Amino acid sequence: MIQVKKCAFCGKVFQTNLPQKKYCSKQCRDDHQREYLKLWRQNHKDKQREYFRKYVETHKEAYKLYRRRYMREWARKHYALMKQQKVLTKPKK
Ligand SMILES: [Zn+2]
Repeated sequence: MIQVKKCAFCGKVFQTNLPQKKYCSKQCRDDHQREYLKLWRQNHKDKQREYFRKYVETHKEAYKLYRRRYMREWARKHYALMKQQKVLTKPKK
């Protein structure tokens, strides 16, 4: 059955045969999701920090490994770039 609904994000009237549909388009759904996440992050800053702290605590080894790998990757990339741009030169004696 076709229903006429109002988009929960932009307010546009649209037709759908899906009773659970709330938004007129994928764009509106994505935009709403983004807004919602942004708001959530703004309202849960402490929670997020707490969550991160807990995560690091319970995954200490994994986190260390991750950081080490990340740093190595970073150094490798930048070293290559510096070499390419000839920033790295041998010190003159
Ligand atoms: Zn919409």
